[in-house]
Amino acid sequence: MRLLFISTPVGAFGSGVGGGVELTVENVAKELMLRSHTVHLAACVGSQSQAIPLITIPGEVHSFAQNQTRTDPVSFPNNSVLANLWSYAREMQDSYDLIVNFAYDWLPFYLTPFFDTPIAHFVSMGSLLDSIDRAIAQVVQQYPDRIGVYTQTQADTFDRPFPMGSQFRLLGSGIDLDLYEFQPTSAARLAWVARISPEKGLEDAAAVSEATGLEIDVLGKMQDREYWEQVQQDFPKAKLNYLGFHPTEKLQELMGACQALLMTPKWVEAFGNVAIEALACGVPIVSYARGGPVEIIKHGKTGYLVEPDNVRALCDAVTAVPRINRIVCRREAEAEYSLTALGDRFEQWFIDILA
Ligand code: UDP
Repeated sequence: MRLLFISTPVGAFGSGVGGGVELTVENVAKELMLRSHTVHLAACVGSQSQAIPLITIPGEVHSFAQNQTRTDPVSFPNNSVLANLWSYAREMQDSYDLIVNFAYDWLPFYLTPFFDTPIAHFVSMGSLLDSIDRAIAQVVQQYPDRIGVYTQTQADTFDRPFPMGSQFRLLGSGIDLDLYEFQPTSAARLAWVARISPEKGLEDAAAVSEATGLEIDVLGKMQDREYWEQVQQDFPKAKLNYLGFHPTEKLQELMGACQALLMTPKWVEAFGNVAIEALACGVPIVSYARGGPVEIIKHGKTGYLVEPDNVRALCDAVTAVPRINRIVCRREAEAEYSLTALGDRFEQWFIDILA
């Protein structure tokens, strides 16, 4: 297959600004290229990838859907990079068998019936905006097999203008396990790995640190500095070490040295790639039972799921972490989240669409 992947318009691919979907795109492309498919990725100027041939497209980036309210109208910056990406896709469509959209944005869904080359859409977040969901619903009605998502919990959030999640293709996620080293022992510290942004609930991790006295290594893109400063002001006794945003090699080394990964999502996390990266290092996860982590964590075996927004329950689970066997975590990653399994699911989805 000749595949044209189209990245998110929120910023450069490889910068981390797009979140976990960047890792998913990289991994899917890597595996499909191994299987002799052609993959090109069109993305904003400044994008970088070790694995995928890039076409960089100029233009102004878009704002994050998670910073808007549900009924906000669709808006475009002047000289929108999203519009430019899709103009490129339209011009080049004859050179590809399938175009794959990785952005939760109105335009690509709306444009789907106007293209001769089929467009598949991988949605990497839960439902956020009515305007986009309406455009997705139109795609579902016309082309029922074209919408892919990570998890069932994520799919279930798409219930407007009608419940459509049951028609989405569940694709899960996967990682290149060779890049993650199993670390059998750890220091008495926690990791919190996410974009520094309110929907990730860093304040609850800070509360855990204050209550338990444990240090927390914070890793991830600094998306909202004001929020970061607010959390530090509100929890002055929390021991949060911000270590920055690192490539996978360093990320897995730092995360692997921790006793557990803490996940405190305030939104329905579509998947949570960091959870499977932690498992691959042998690191158990303590998370709110909300969104993707519910489908990833085996309670009592690879970590603990606790009542959402209950900091006390998080603290109790953290103290129980030494009961989790780190080898079991690594085995879980090997059994469920390999690149081969991920490649099989995406490849079959594309084959089905083209059939
Ligand atoms: N990440 C990274 N380096 C870091 C911290 C995070 O590469 O120092 C990546 C991590 O590998 C994951 C992504 O950031 O792929 C976060 O994605 P996740 O699915 O957990 O959440 P999202 O940001 O998509 O909501």
